[in-house]
Amino acid sequence: MIVTRFAPSPNGPLHLGHAFAALVAHDLARERGGQFHLRIEDIDGERSRAEFVEEFLLDLRWLGLEWDGAVAFQSARLARYTEAGERLKAMGLLYPCRCTRAEITAAATEAGPDGPIYPGTCRHHDVNPEGAAWRLDVTRAMDLAGPLEWVDEIAGPQVATPQIFGDVVLLRKDLPASYHLAATLDDAADGITLVTRGMDLFPASHVHRLLQALLGLPVPAWHHHGLLIEPDGRKLAKRRGSPSLGDRRRAGEDGWALAEALRAHRFPGDISLSGNWTP
Ligand code: GLU
Repeated sequence: MIVTRFAPSPNGPLHLGHAFAALVAHDLARERGGQFHLRIEDIDGERSRAEFVEEFLLDLRWLGLEWDGAVAFQSARLARYTEAGERLKAMGLLYPCRCTRAEITAAATEAGPDGPIYPGTCRHHDVNPEGAAWRLDVTRAMDLAGPLEWVDEIAGPQVATPQIFGDVVLLRKDLPASYHLAATLDDAADGITLVTRGMDLFPASHVHRLLQALLGLPVPAWHHHGLLIEPDGRKLAKRRGSPSLGDRRRAGEDGWALAEALRAHRFPGDISLSGNWTP
């Protein structure tokens, strides 16, 4: 059975792009007789706010989206992340790093999908692990895992190249996981068989595929959908003033009609809000 999920982070209100992502996950599950889950990615306690979670539930219902089962919260799963982190450490695949963002930017010679690639400064140094972040030695991990493939429903078969990120942080200095580790473990724990999310996270799936191999997790399929973009070609974002779903809901807009308008644009590729379509 197909199982999808929508996994918003409660560090701000949902906007149209989130509505589109939720619709894709929901509709793909429903069209194929599967389940749609809701997971709150609130691992970052400093930036997460409970009031956003309440709004998320109202927003989704307003759009006409019902999820299956209980809402999952990453903050309740920290012990599971710690355990996986310990396993990766025991496999000799993680090393502590105390480099600051500024040091990395100054020392980096290449850029990856998330900015400057970490140049491996701490890989061969004796670094005090107390309060440090832990990075994945991606070369060593790939040597252990061997060649890996994954399939995106739209883009087709992919050869995993997590090296494009360099040695990513898997355990943050303040948390027992990073996005990559938490999302990968959760998708496995929740039985997600089809990971849907925006094209902006396509590169992250290379890292997730490697983590699945290292931790012996089931391998889902992926469906990276196009993004809603502003008429000037930039990704839609609240900070540039696009109204939140909550604003629209409270203004009395019809959420079902908005969902239908978004559904009409569910195609691969970015969806420009220019032209005659103004939801
Ligand atoms: N919490 C992530 C976000 O809000 C979701 C990432 C995912 O779907 O894997 O962007």
